[in-house]
Amino acid sequence: MNTATSQSGPRKVAILGATGSIGGSTLDVIARHPQRFHASVLTAHSNVDALAELCVLHRPELAIIADPALEPLLAQRLRAAGVACEVASGHDAITAAAASALCDTVVAAIVGAAGLDSTLAAARAGKRLLLANKESIVMAGSLLLEALASGAGELIPVDSEHNAIFQCLPGGRSHLHKGGSLQASGIRRLILTASGGPFRGRSRAELAGITPDQACKHPNWSMGRKISVDSATLMNKGLEVIEAHHLFNAPADAIEVLVHPQSLVHSLVEYVDGSVLAQLGNPDMRTAIAHALSWPDRIEAGVAPLDLAASAPLAFEPPDLTTFRCLALAFQALRAGGDATAILNAANEVAVEAFLAGGLPFLSIADVVESVLTELPSQAVVDVQTLVERDRLAREAARRVLRNAC
Ligand code: NAD
Ligand code: MG
Repeated sequence: MNTATSQSGPRKVAILGATGSIGGSTLDVIARHPQRFHASVLTAHSNVDALAELCVLHRPELAIIADPALEPLLAQRLRAAGVACEVASGHDAITAAAASALCDTVVAAIVGAAGLDSTLAAARAGKRLLLANKESIVMAGSLLLEALASGAGELIPVDSEHNAIFQCLPGGRSHLHKGGSLQASGIRRLILTASGGPFRGRSRAELAGITPDQACKHPNWSMGRKISVDSATLMNKGLEVIEAHHLFNAPADAIEVLVHPQSLVHSLVEYVDGSVLAQLGNPDMRTAIAHALSWPDRIEAGVAPLDLAASAPLAFEPPDLTTFRCLALAFQALRAGGDATAILNAANEVAVEAFLAGGLPFLSIADVVESVLTELPSQAVVDVQTLVERDRLAREAARRVLRNAC
């Protein structure tokens, strides 16, 4: 049953990853519309103080901390603050909450493969799934689409590029992932824009000594550290190409990446008659989140109106695939098919973690990913268990590459 449409009163929204960048933007939009939305479940990895503070502000029914050792501390903080919500802990509690009657909408905003189980659970349970956690669809695209079909809920993309494409698709045919083809919708190409990140225009030699803080300083968007590094390597765009492939049933050859440094055009859809539809707006995730929360309605998001006359000229250029090899590797994994994109994602997560910890040079992130893709050739996707095992093997292989490199 599609629980998303079967209730009256405010929609009950579970925010998985509430203490993160997307979580914060979501709570900001929700707080503007108390008649429409209630944040009923809030989860975090280990930041008890931040989660407790959010509970004081938003009064959920359930607060979950992923690290079980921290549950007593969270309970104590909430008692002291006079917040009477249920408290739970652990990965499985997050997964269970995503499928529970406590919510009809789930915002999947955990970072990395850690978000896979809860994303799948929400899809199976027929929730409205607001997908920010792109790693889960990169890892398990076909399984997520099957879970969505079995749950008969709906997925609205939150990633700004995919949300833009969703908005530019023909009315009534917005769910290409339900089996429609681009061709049948008269679409020639999907064009994903990329800001180019903080190092656009630089040569490989200029990227040799990049530090984590430099990589996390994105020119237009304020985001968590992992996605910020992915944006700097262009792996983020690579993950988004794979995400678009699954969400919109688009072959790799029908997806193009265009660097657009101003981040005002969030993506475009080209039709066979030569029309190109784009979605524009200021670079603020609250637009995509508000759209996805309220679709098909429109609500105020707190985002400043776009002043095109005062904006820099809009520029577009092709990506530099020689310097930013991660984007080329993502296309390679997509074309290889099977679980190659899960292998790519796992290797990238390990490499980015090592870079953020100061243990891997920026340019070597692509080397680690490439070595692991070579070591573990693609296999067919069978089920979640097999995929999780392949993810584990890829992480092991990536750590071996890291050890040998040091
Ligand atoms: P973030 O690092 O700011 O927040 C991550 C959240 O996930 C935090 O609440 C953290 O507590 C939680 N978390 C981390 N590891 C966890 C674990 N093992 N178990 C349970 N919870 C865990 O990240 P973010 O920038 O908000 O990004 C979240 C997701 O959204 C990512 O997949 C990212 O690619 C995607 N996304 C983000 C943006 C953006 O503008 N920030 C845009 C598009 C897509
Ligand atoms: Mg994006």
